[in-house]
Amino acid sequence: MTHDADVIVAGAGPTGLLAAGDLAGDLGSCTVLERRHEESNLSRAAGVNTRTLEELDARGIADDMVQSGLPVGTIDVFGDLLDMSRLPSRFPFELAIPQYKTEQLLEVRARALGAEIVSGAEVVGLSQDADGVDLQVRDQSGEMHTRRARYVIGADGVGSTVRTALGLPFPGRAAARSVILCDTQMTDPPPDLLAAHTNEDGFAFVLPFGDGYYRVTAWDRRRDLPDTDPVDLDEIRDLTRRVLGTDFGMHDPRWLSRFHSDERLVPQYRVGRVFLAGDAAHTHSPAGGLGMNTGMQDAANLGWKLAAVIKGQAPDALLDTYNAERRPAGQTTVRISGRLLRAGQARPRTPGAVRRAVLRAATHVPPLARRMARAISGIGVSYPTPPDAHPLTGRRAPDIPLSDHGSTRLYQALRCRRMLLVTPPNALLPASLTGGWADRVKVVAAGGPTDKLVLVRPDGYIAWAAQYSDSGAMADRIHAALATWCGPPADQ
Ligand SMILES: Cc1cc2nc3c(=O)[nH]c(=O)nc-3n(C[C@H](O)[C@H](O)[C@H](O)COP(=O)(O)OP(=O)(O)OC[C@H]3O[C@@H](n4cnc5c(N)ncnc54)[C@H](O)[C@@H]3O)c2cc1C
Repeated sequence: MTHDADVIVAGAGPTGLLAAGDLAGDLGSCTVLERRHEESNLSRAAGVNTRTLEELDARGIADDMVQSGLPVGTIDVFGDLLDMSRLPSRFPFELAIPQYKTEQLLEVRARALGAEIVSGAEVVGLSQDADGVDLQVRDQSGEMHTRRARYVIGADGVGSTVRTALGLPFPGRAAARSVILCDTQMTDPPPDLLAAHTNEDGFAFVLPFGDGYYRVTAWDRRRDLPDTDPVDLDEIRDLTRRVLGTDFGMHDPRWLSRFHSDERLVPQYRVGRVFLAGDAAHTHSPAGGLGMNTGMQDAANLGWKLAAVIKGQAPDALLDTYNAERRPAGQTTVRISGRLLRAGQARPRTPGAVRRAVLRAATHVPPLARRMARAISGIGVSYPTPPDAHPLTGRRAPDIPLSDHGSTRLYQALRCRRMLLVTPPNALLPASLTGGWADRVKVVAAGGPTDKLVLVRPDGYIAWAAQYSDSGAMADRIHAALATWCGPPADQ
């Protein structure tokens, strides 16, 4: 049976748009089905973290994104400052930027690379066989159509129809109700960093977007209202005065909403030819600002793998690594965000206050603070590896300088969307050694001293590493690593 597309993505949120851009770039096309008719103006995620910016750097769009937002180097975690400025990255900060701006940038990229984004197309069901997936889609006029793809990514958010159609549960618990969110102007704003506090009344935090508006998120422990209950500026002003001592002269909000958060994680991210990514796979409160970032990192992990398998350059087993790598990352995110939320919700002099004391230590004791900064920035994520693997395997590749003709640093070189084999500066690898993989692997030399050979995946994680030597055994090991990660060599 013929396919309408190699990959169909359900949902044009940040997760779906990043995946679609990667797949269109690698395969020449990708279809996105989006239920909404109109552009998203949702103001939800207010922060893009360090690791997401590194992933966007590997796609050449991080600098544009930084230009559109406000870098925040110090995060106020319920009264305790967490310094992000010493993170070992080009992006040692959290970028404050409204979610719709992030989505606009990703959409422009996806379309430019050839992705087709179909609005008003709601996925209502699916079935799969050995060769593909049939999606039942309702169009804007209410008519039903079937679209067939080799693979489907369910990036259709927390209420995912794809997840339901797969028959997967979404176990977890309710975490917070009646949290108010307000993007507003202020006549007397706090200084340019995240301000946060928690007390007997609840919690509140303020984040500047850098465009004259501020994000205020607040929770009143005495009010437990459904999301549908209207919210007005006076309610959030009053709560902010009680928690932070001032309402900062809030006026003319452009966004006001009330929301609830659950903490849930799907038991598996892959069922046959269908993958779940983003909020469809994991959800938690906004504490820590990790939700959208984790979703985009899911997409970055999955896109190149699907493209490699579709092009016949990797075995199907590579797709299983998506669940093996990203589900534990999702689990960690739900855990960290939950701890932060409960520390924020804790009343003084209760067992919960102990959590806040732990949090205080996590921002003040240098090794703990480093760990916390790495967790919130996303750069602490690494992937499981076999016990005999080199210690660098599975880790995030740092943005090292290169002595390459085209690129001066690693994340610039990753824009070729191939694996990078990074050699010591003076290593003499004959071109014939990697020639059979030339369409999949680019050989680049490190710009500084190193005695290691490192194979870096398109998503910036280390696939394989070894101590360099110019022996024949080295050539055999390189061949074995390339065959594992990139499939058999092409005929030369
Ligand atoms: C108040 C609030 C503040 C937040 N702050 C942060 C933060 O600071 N940092 C952070 O990282 N995250 C934050 N988040 C979380 C973040 O907004 C989500 O994690 C993120 O939007 C998830 O992206 P996604 O693409 O996976 O899903 P979504 O953004 O939900 O996108 C899913 C898309 O799928 C479409 N869709 C749904 N069903 C169908 C269907 N059946 N067929 C076709 N299309 C469909 C939807 O219309 C939507 O466009 C916050 C969330 C909230 C609510």
